[in-house]
Amino acid sequence: LDDRTAAAIALEDARLAHNYHPLPVVVESGSGAWVTDITGRRYLDCLAAYSAVNFGHGHPDLLAAARDQLDRITLTSRAFHNDRLGPFADALAALAGVEMVLPMNTGAEAVETAIKLARLWGHRVKGVADGEAEVIVMTENFHGRTTTIVSFSTDAAARDGFGPFTPGFVTVPYGDADAVADAITDRTVAVLVEPIQGEAGIIVPSAEFLPNLRRITHERDVLLIADEIQSGLGRTGATFQCDNAGIIPDLYVLGKALGGGIVPVSAVIGRADVIGVVQPGEHGSTFGGNPLAAAVGLAVVELLETGEMQRRSRELGTHLLHRLNELVGHGLLAVRGVGLWAGIDIDPQLATGREVCEALLERGVLAKDTHGSTIRLAPPIVIERDDLDWAVDQLSEVLEAF
Ligand code: PLP
Repeated sequence: LDDRTAAAIALEDARLAHNYHPLPVVVESGSGAWVTDITGRRYLDCLAAYSAVNFGHGHPDLLAAARDQLDRITLTSRAFHNDRLGPFADALAALAGVEMVLPMNTGAEAVETAIKLARLWGHRVKGVADGEAEVIVMTENFHGRTTTIVSFSTDAAARDGFGPFTPGFVTVPYGDADAVADAITDRTVAVLVEPIQGEAGIIVPSAEFLPNLRRITHERDVLLIADEIQSGLGRTGATFQCDNAGIIPDLYVLGKALGGGIVPVSAVIGRADVIGVVQPGEHGSTFGGNPLAAAVGLAVVELLETGEMQRRSRELGTHLLHRLNELVGHGLLAVRGVGLWAGIDIDPQLATGREVCEALLERGVLAKDTHGSTIRLAPPIVIERDDLDWAVDQLSEVLEAF
């Protein structure tokens, strides 16, 4: 490492909590799918901030919307109305084909909101006794880091030491709709599911799983909540992975790319008879629905309205998965993915995911391992096809060199 990079990393190490293990690169700027570090070296970003930068760094339309709004007003709180929130919510609801929006900031906050809404609906509408509501969740889920959310994590690293835990969650195996049907009781208010499990390593369930969940939850008067924080907004070649599965959930949970990589913007969107249950004073957020977030969120929705990002993700994704599959047996054990989103399992005999990511970094490709030997590839959708090919070439050469 050069002196400046080493010093910048040492400063972070000394002052920041060690809840992350970043790769040794100090990013200074970015444009499209590329970022530049403090030494002037360029890297192709194949993580896109865990899919929060789906539309690339510094997308001109999103930057323009943010700059424009910065000069007007950025925060009002919801004690008053603002002129950006209504148009954002209206456009987002239309994009998704749903009725109502509850804006928050981060993904975990939106998941918490969805859980609260489902419980409230269960207690006030479905007739579950107050305090008795149950939510069915999946093994290997990832929904965020709050105390309630880690209460139903099955990942020891996410959970151990953080108790006491919030009750009211029942865990079933991911991908098993029969297990969900068996787990439903009179107290069940919702099933919370990632249409594709991102953090778990891009785990894609069978094509029948989501349609079966939709049918079962419909028959049993249970809400289906799709956490599309990572899978949504273009990543899978569709606006939502639920579109690919041909279903509409009762609630979508959105975040990450909704803020265009500029500001944290999240939301729960869906049925008015569910979201509409909550009354003034029962839930809120100082920053949720702020005019800057709404202006950027509206610009994100406008990008998605054209379908161009979804089409690009689909086309580039097909190409990426084709090329990655050629590496199976040559350092990769398996490749999974949908759209421009791939999980690749490195042969553990060869190297760990971390070692491969470090070698990719040396060649100018930024990627991040997830669990042990799995690496997630999720470049910005604006990536050029030649750049994508170049990244796969680097991966191929890295794997050969081990
Ligand atoms: N839900 C899913 C599916 C996610 O992938 C994530 C983040 O990775 C979250 C929720 C939490 O979002 P945040 O980190 O913004 O709280």
